[in-house]
Amino acid sequence: FTMQENGTIVQARAILKQYFGYEQFRPLQEEIIEKILQQQDVLVLMPTGGGKSICYQVPALVFPGLTIVISPLIALMKDQVTALKANGIGAAYLNSTIGMDEEQWIKHECVQGRIKLLYISPERLQTELRAFLPGLPVSLIAIDEAHCISQWGHDFRPEYTQLASLKTYFPKTPLVALTATADKTTRKDILQQLALPQANVFLASFDRPNLSLQVRSNIQKREKMEEIKDFIQSRPQDNGIIYCMSRKTTEEVAAELGAALRPQGISVAYYHAGMPADYRDAVQQDFINDRVQVMCATIAFGMGIDKSNVRWVMHYNLPRNMEGYYQEIGRAGRDGLPSDTILYFNMGDLNMLTRFAQESGQQEMNMEKLNRMRQYAEANTCRRKVLLSYFGETLEQQCNNCDVCANPRSFFDGTLLTQKALSALLRLHERVGSQMLIDVLRGSQRAEILQHGYDKIKTYGAGADVSNRDWQQYLLQLLDQGIVEIAYDENFTMKVTDFGKTILAEKRSVQLTRPVDFVPSKPTKEKN
Ligand code: ADP
Ligand code: ZN
Repeated sequence: FTMQENGTIVQARAILKQYFGYEQFRPLQEEIIEKILQQQDVLVLMPTGGGKSICYQVPALVFPGLTIVISPLIALMKDQVTALKANGIGAAYLNSTIGMDEEQWIKHECVQGRIKLLYISPERLQTELRAFLPGLPVSLIAIDEAHCISQWGHDFRPEYTQLASLKTYFPKTPLVALTATADKTTRKDILQQLALPQANVFLASFDRPNLSLQVRSNIQKREKMEEIKDFIQSRPQDNGIIYCMSRKTTEEVAAELGAALRPQGISVAYYHAGMPADYRDAVQQDFINDRVQVMCATIAFGMGIDKSNVRWVMHYNLPRNMEGYYQEIGRAGRDGLPSDTILYFNMGDLNMLTRFAQESGQQEMNMEKLNRMRQYAEANTCRRKVLLSYFGETLEQQCNNCDVCANPRSFFDGTLLTQKALSALLRLHERVGSQMLIDVLRGSQRAEILQHGYDKIKTYGAGADVSNRDWQQYLLQLLDQGIVEIAYDENFTMKVTDFGKTILAEKRSVQLTRPVDFVPSKPTKEKN
């Protein structure tokens, strides 16, 4: 610690208090800000509501020059700038909604040094990089929603790939990239694309222990609707969101629930992108101000809504991927109080989503993401473990707040099976997918195995006593427990995680569950 660094973090604390009115930084914010103040590049992974904005807004006020913020969402840009201005901070945005005169004025203010934070849409950045920005003293560049740069992410935006050139224009300026959702592959890709190999990576925990996780599988439509009505009636004061796959479904579900619940004073509305903007805004305001309790919505609903007391979130249909699911359930329980999440999962939805994925531009990746979603819905291990392992976090204990923990499957000692699978995988140099691994474990004679000499490795045939289908299930459980992972940027090959290597090295015991034929569970009465 030099005097100078000490000074700046002290300054940062003073700014936090003076401009934002907060007494102290949250965990990680201070470490992140310290690195930025030392002119280092940083990647911040923090769940929504974690407090990412402070991580660049405070340094922006410590630094002498201008901070550029790249943000893909016009509405969020506007909200942020309004909030900053309300706190007495010079801020502005440049995007397609800004007229010529206003643009000239904003640029003038930037040159005069009266604007500390300038938000720019990625589409706009290229033009400004060529003429306007290079003449300015830029102290910091922040890239919000950084996962948009990666085609492995769930929200790839081609304009974001242009951001790769930022480091060429501003080689000395520190860059901070922020995102609320990025699995391991996407994370690696963000750093590569932004040319930040040396960046400090800060990963906040994605665990939200106050959210219960429940999956209801293969429930008939009628029964599902009855369950939902019972659930809402059992908590008539609580607010919640029901996410549906299509616009039409939001309207249908709202109509049916509304008819049943309105007589009891529970108001139900729907929200989707096909509605006129003013109507949409009005409905959203009604929900925020507790005039609407139950919102049936497509995923268009919820972006940037900071409502702390949403008590439950349901998925009427299966989401397309874990990133979306995580973000949507994350809208419940922001105040930290116990909140419930329920996911309905059935084959019909799965088939529909499979078709969407097959017809999409990035078929292979979308299929893989959908597969992970399905694996979560079908998991036999603690769902929170599965959820967190997707984001590269390991939860070693059962969570005791999910339906699997509440109804544990019967476990057996799967240590030996796990050791066989892991050591075979390592001997195959982690270059094979799950089916090849199983074939090697089962001692298959198929041509590809003999060609590669896989029949020569020590564990060849070591798992011949386990059926192909059971191996599939066990590997899925190892995946869910964070012991192996799938590299979908490397041909879907399977890898042993660091946790898996520890298990192998320390001969730790691994519990697996016996594969069961799928039996739909009985509806459980919700707690009040
Ligand atoms: P994110 O961008 O990660 O979703 P925000 O930056 O919008 O999160 O912050 C979420 C909420 O937390 C905001 O209301 C913000 O004002 C608040 N917040 C952030 N940092 C602090 C802090 N150090 N102390 C108190 N509240 C904070
Ligand atoms: Zn659990």
